[in-house]
Amino acid sequence: MQSALTPDSTVVIVGASLAGLRCAETLRADGFAGSITLVGDEPHLPYDRPPLSKQFLTGRWDAERISLYKEEKHASLGLTMRLGVPAAALDVEAKRVELADGTTLQGDAVVVATGAGLRRLPGTEGRPLLHGVRSLDDATALRDDVANLAPGSRVVLIGAGFIGQEVATALVAAGHRVTILEGAQLPLSPIVGEEVAAILLGLHRSSGAQLRTGVAVTGITPPSTDAPAGSVELAGGEKVPADLIVVGIGVTPNTAWLESSSLTIDNGVVTDERLLAGPGILAIGDVARFRWLGAGHDEHVRIEHWQTAADHGVHAAKVLVTGGGLAPVFAAVPYFWSDQWDKKIQVLGHPGADDEVSMLLAPDEEGRFLVAYHAGEFLTGVLAVSKPRQLMAFRTMLGEGATIDQARMVEL
Ligand code: FAD
Ligand code: NAP
Repeated sequence: MQSALTPDSTVVIVGASLAGLRCAETLRADGFAGSITLVGDEPHLPYDRPPLSKQFLTGRWDAERISLYKEEKHASLGLTMRLGVPAAALDVEAKRVELADGTTLQGDAVVVATGAGLRRLPGTEGRPLLHGVRSLDDATALRDDVANLAPGSRVVLIGAGFIGQEVATALVAAGHRVTILEGAQLPLSPIVGEEVAAILLGLHRSSGAQLRTGVAVTGITPPSTDAPAGSVELAGGEKVPADLIVVGIGVTPNTAWLESSSLTIDNGVVTDERLLAGPGILAIGDVARFRWLGAGHDEHVRIEHWQTAADHGVHAAKVLVTGGGLAPVFAAVPYFWSDQWDKKIQVLGHPGADDEVSMLLAPDEEGRFLVAYHAGEFLTGVLAVSKPRQLMAFRTMLGEGATIDQARMVEL
């Protein structure tokens, strides 16, 4: 059991991004006056990732605009920042973090907020004109290469998930010829279910990018004069030549540094319903596979979205200041959004891919619609395409364990 922090306590937060920073900010807001150290392997102060595939990529926003760490606001927080140095190991019993430079940090509590890292195609690391998008450095390198492309260049995106669709949106708007190669027949179906993924497929097919589903990428040839980024090889022998390649085939939780620890690692750091991974150790954000008890669920989930990472940070601070056993369970309603083409896709709740779907507002002539997901009678989620006001009517209901019949009664 985690005991409450005292003014003499020290908290070590590993991962200097959204979840970790939110935790530090909330600790201070809740009156914790002890020491907080934020450790980050990137050289940058914390910044926001969603704009990297949107406004930052299109050049509308610069790095300063996406900073989460405004100097004037944060000077008073009194955080010790250890940036540019990865944590290498954690001694759970001692609550001691070893950094890659050989130094150690002793905490009374340790918060693991190391997020997730890019899944890569074998043999592609460091190749010119081939990018993934996770960090500010990744997005800067991609943006620089995009700036050097001639209009109408051939951009090949591998993966039609969130990165693929959002980067395609930006690059079609910039006037390039974009091809998306996706392994699955129905992109996004593990997240939104087959029925809704089939509707979204219509949006993607009319977008201006060429979307090819059910294709298996087997390799990428070396760069050549007519394919400066190389050609993407498909099963069956076809080669798709590219001036630029972007790979968005998902992420894996950053847990390698914890392998020698006694924490349970299984597709993330496994936690209880309060986000405790062990006594005095919490895991939050993309790296955490937490016990989720909301909206009829009792399962361990890992959610790779902004709002849950932020909510986790706030919740972890509350657990630390109150003492784990007294803190409420984590029950914030998950939420995410994605800007794809001219649409905003928003999801409240945590629908399972096999949940039943009820259309609450059928697609209109502009492709806007709203659907509810349910497992039996329990409402598990609501997805909206460009219906933001109507969606928000369901936030409270999802937090209160509403039924699908109650959702159908909402006036839209
Ligand atoms: P991260 O933001 O991944 O941060 C973890 C930090 O820990 C990183 O800085 C990492 O380098 C560092 N780290 C890793 N290992 C170590 C170590 N051993 N020692 C020290 N530091 C370490 N979500 C949405 O809901 N909507 C969106 O529109 C959206 N768009 C996105 C666009 C992009 C391009 C990306 C990449 C993500 C997007 N997301 C979006 C997801 C959202 O940004 C993430 O869910 C969120 O950043 C997770 O926050 P986090 O703090 O848990 O982890
Ligand atoms: P993702 O959403 O998991 O999508 C990856 C896609 O690539 C899936 O459709 C996957 O299909 C496909 N794929 C996997 N291996 C492939 C291969 N070898 N060839 C072709 N297709 C392949 O991951 P992502 O788009 O890379 O995004 C990375 C992370 O950033 C995620 O955590 C995501 O949540 C986050 N992000 C979120 C947003 C947002 O919420 N708006 C925006 C950008 C990024 P299968 O499912 O069949 O494997």
